[in-house]
Amino acid sequence: MRLKKTIFLFCFLLFCSWSTEKVFLFPFSPKSGDTLKITITQTSSRKKFIAAFNQKEYPFYPVKQKNQCCLIGLSCQLPPGKYKLNIFQLQNKKKIKFWSRKIEIKPGRFRTVNLNLKRKKSNLISLPQNKVERKKLYRFLKRGIPFPLWQGKFLRPVKGRITDGYGTYRTINKTTPWNQHKGVDFGAPRGTPVFASNKGIVVLAEKFSLQGKLVLLDHGEGIQTIYMHLSSITVQPGKMVKKGEHIGEVGSTGLSTGAHLHWGLYIYGVTVDPLKWLTYEY
Ligand SMILES: [Zn+2]
Repeated sequence: MRLKKTIFLFCFLLFCSWSTEKVFLFPFSPKSGDTLKITITQTSSRKKFIAAFNQKEYPFYPVKQKNQCCLIGLSCQLPPGKYKLNIFQLQNKKKIKFWSRKIEIKPGRFRTVNLNLKRKKSNLISLPQNKVERKKLYRFLKRGIPFPLWQGKFLRPVKGRITDGYGTYRTINKTTPWNQHKGVDFGAPRGTPVFASNKGIVVLAEKFSLQGKLVLLDHGEGIQTIYMHLSSITVQPGKMVKKGEHIGEVGSTGLSTGAHLHWGLYIYGVTVDPLKWLTYEY
């Protein structure tokens, strides 16, 4: 009788421990340009999970209170619609389906603007080295630190008003369709100090033709921030920077119409609206 009771109690506790492992999505109703955060609560840090979304796989990382999290970038170029989101648990190199749902990605609201550029600046678009520099940037975006370095909310990287938001459709001189804006622009006078928006390692600090003088910071777990069109850079690749540390000054180098900072945030190489990271702790 005592054995039966013990077995029953054991099964009951096992059932309780299983039923407390839950999956939460933030935001509940995501749209193009958002950061999608998946949280598995009340789980063990020893368990290995991966999320599969739109033909790409994303790792989970342990956080406090027995939770594991995963971040997925929903680019402004991601077409709205229904997508399958699967979570697999990895056991002995096998992928076991843990959770599955169809989620709807709503359209982001992006405006359209025209940029008036002088010939000297618009000629930058067709330079042959742009392809090489873009490839170099993406090489660094892929080579990330596999654990989170960032802490808490991100800081606004410069003092200045927002002159253009994330995802804006752009044309150049009303004739050439350009791309969707992959970051946020802050207008500020040349020489205004620019700060690291969170703790990270400098992975790139150099001049590109279109992006101008740029700094790319790796905050770990696939999260990277970029600071473009700087007039000067005060950090070197390999340096660990603190949240709020001075990394350069505002300028108008590269494809730019005036002194401003372009600030972008990547999740595993995919840009998202960085302003969300100023108000929400991911
Ligand atoms: Zn910009």
